[in-house]
Amino acid sequence: MNEKKFTIGYWDSIFNHFSSTLKSLGTNLPSVSEIASSSRDPFRVLISTIISLRTKDAVTLEASTRLFSQADTPSSILSLKSEEIQNLIYPAGFYRTKAKNILSVSRILIEQYDGKVPSKRELLLALPGVGVKTANLTLNLGFGIDAICVDTHVHRISNRCGWIKTKTPEESEKALEQIMPRKYWIPLNEMLVSYGQQLCTPVSPHCSKCPIQGDCPKIGVTKTR
Ligand code: SF4
Repeated sequence: MNEKKFTIGYWDSIFNHFSSTLKSLGTNLPSVSEIASSSRDPFRVLISTIISLRTKDAVTLEASTRLFSQADTPSSILSLKSEEIQNLIYPAGFYRTKAKNILSVSRILIEQYDGKVPSKRELLLALPGVGVKTANLTLNLGFGIDAICVDTHVHRISNRCGWIKTKTPEESEKALEQIMPRKYWIPLNEMLVSYGQQLCTPVSPHCSKCPIQGDCPKIGVTKTR
């Protein structure tokens, strides 16, 4: 990794290239961002991120919208039975476990946090079903707090581009914090999730359509389109 190249100008150009490519494809925001853009409510962001784990974006958006049409606060969630939540969020992956976690999270928020989502990462991580990705995305989109949210797309693309050399999303988060200006910490996830779904796909990325293909080392990529 050549750290010298990671100037502010370098990141400006990456973000400009990727976002104009996505715009030209008419790409929608990822589901949780879509939900956050209509209301910056940390509770909605937290719950829809829990629903989004191992679930396609379109399913997450529909499942979250169905749930929030019935209940969108911790107390209204507690008025639902687990089976009702399951039905509302189905076919999200692991919908039974998620329904249980959504109920437990709502109960803890009421009992310990006056019905509000805490804005501290360690408190979020202590909630059932909340891992690093969910905690960081809630801080990002719910509270506007800088945090790099690393999911599978962010981890994969950052390593492919040679920005970092890491084995796990947790390592990637730390490594990206070292080389990326803070102003990009929040938008990084949103942009790379869309980029990873549309262009830099897990298998056979669309490098021929990518504006940085001449500069990208494509580390670990064996087949491209
Ligand atoms: S050139 Fe290919 S591997 Fe590199 S970022 Fe673009 S799509 Fe991904």
